[in-house]
Amino acid sequence: MSIWRYGDECPWPSRDLLESPKCPYCERGTRTFSSATEPGATRHDQVHTCSRCGWWGLARTQTIFGGSYTTIQFLGASAHLKNLLLDDLDQPIEEVRRYMLARFDARKTIHPRLLEETVASVYRDLGWKVLLTSYSNDGGVDVVLHGSGDTLTGIRVRGRVGVQVKRSKKPIEAEQIRALTGALVQGRYTRGIFVTTERFRSGALKAAERSKQVGYPIHLIDAPKLYDALELTSRARYRSFRDWQASNSPSELHSIRGDEVMYSP
Ligand SMILES: [Zn+2]
Repeated sequence: MSIWRYGDECPWPSRDLLESPKCPYCERGTRTFSSATEPGATRHDQVHTCSRCGWWGLARTQTIFGGSYTTIQFLGASAHLKNLLLDDLDQPIEEVRRYMLARFDARKTIHPRLLEETVASVYRDLGWKVLLTSYSNDGGVDVVLHGSGDTLTGIRVRGRVGVQVKRSKKPIEAEQIRALTGALVQGRYTRGIFVTTERFRSGALKAAERSKQVGYPIHLIDAPKLYDALELTSRARYRSFRDWQASNSPSELHSIRGDEVMYSP
């Protein structure tokens, strides 16, 4: 299962593949791996890979020897992002995380439970013991963190932390922060984290400040911080050419630049 596809139904890759292109999805610089070149080889492959979202583009230089001339062909293939259905709870979380890095707009339509699972997996990667509360009856806390780790606000803490995850189309209001404070008090949490796909209104910031004053600090993660968190915990999809080749073998390559023909004297 991959969020990427390639082949005839995709747009043609561009000649940018002959250089080191930026990822067309998340615009990160790419890492390039080359195929091993044996002496006398007529084919050389280079694959550019994005370590953030997992995009790749392959450029192949192929030499064909004729009787009185030699032709060099420039061919390519590149991955295109599938439309992932983020209301499908069976999507592997690793793929959901890469998909959100490639297309962060997807945060607006992701199933709320899938977002909770995504946030839980990010905190797990940061060293926390993580428990997802039951979806229908969460008492205002969606994810419980035990142990110690980063809160994603640059602060490392210990204890039992209640996380509220809110896929929202509107900025978070003070009332929603106060509701989390109530849940923290009731559930005997040491502190809270509020994660949203939106931003916090100034009233919400003040409500978080008041919660801290009464002994229940709440850390606020808005959309840009959520993206940073996904990036911080993302792992490079490929580490070598062979690694890439093990899961990708594009047979349909398109011409990405006109052939070079050299006549023998
Ligand atoms: Zn990318």
